[in-house]
Amino acid sequence: MPSLVQPPLDADEFRRQGRLVVDFIADYYARIDEYTVRPAVVPGLNINPFTWAASPAATELEVIRHRHQLARQGAASPGEVVVTHFSFQKAARIAGIRRGNYREIPTTRESGFTLSPKALHAVRAYEAAGRVPLFLCATVGTTPTAAVDPLRELCAAVSGHDVWVHVDAAYAGAACVCPEFRHAIAGAEAVDSFSTNPHKWLLANMDCCALWARRPEALTAALGTDHGVILKDPSA
Ligand SMILES: *Cc1c(COP(=O)(O)O)cnc(C)c1O
Repeated sequence: MPSLVQPPLDADEFRRQGRLVVDFIADYYARIDEYTVRPAVVPGLNINPFTWAASPAATELEVIRHRHQLARQGAASPGEVVVTHFSFQKAARIAGIRRGNYREIPTTRESGFTLSPKALHAVRAYEAAGRVPLFLCATVGTTPTAAVDPLRELCAAVSGHDVWVHVDAAYAGAACVCPEFRHAIAGAEAVDSFSTNPHKWLLANMDCCALWARRPEALTAALGTDHGVILKDPSA
């Protein structure tokens, strides 16, 4: 069986490659005015259209698609739109929550597409029907409309129901590094977990998702692999 341990880095090879990197960066800055501002890439399929500059065509397309979706959902049920990120439904399925046990709570144009604590009366209706509500996902900066859900009010609305409140601040959470935008997460002290993506506005590489959990041991207890069935010594 091949060894699982990486051989130690050869010091001379490290020096050689390190110099190449430094030369590359120094040359780049020395000749920066000779480069074009935008790369001459051909349109492809794997794009991250976070900003117009990153991919004008993809960004325009996303705006049109969101408008279309808002109009379509508005027509299906007047004034009601669901703005949780589409990845959430997939995440729920991966966590074992089947489609039938997942609820999308509509928002309205009047509330700026934010999740109204009043809409959570649905939680009590599920409980009355013998269901156990266990997780609420609030969003700080929804991708389609940048709506910010009222964290304090939502936490208060589910308090005492043993519901894990997660905040998806993937898109706009980075803005809260500025004190003047921190009001967007007022009430976050009461949530159970909070995630934000430094790879969106904070110039970190893809994929960099920062997750904070009030009780990280709840995650390691559920997902940890420190069990007798795991082979700890690969040579055994
Ligand atoms: C981008 C985004 C996500 C997905 O995050 P990834 O870590 O890039 O998969 C989830 N929620 C919101 C609101 C987003 O804007």
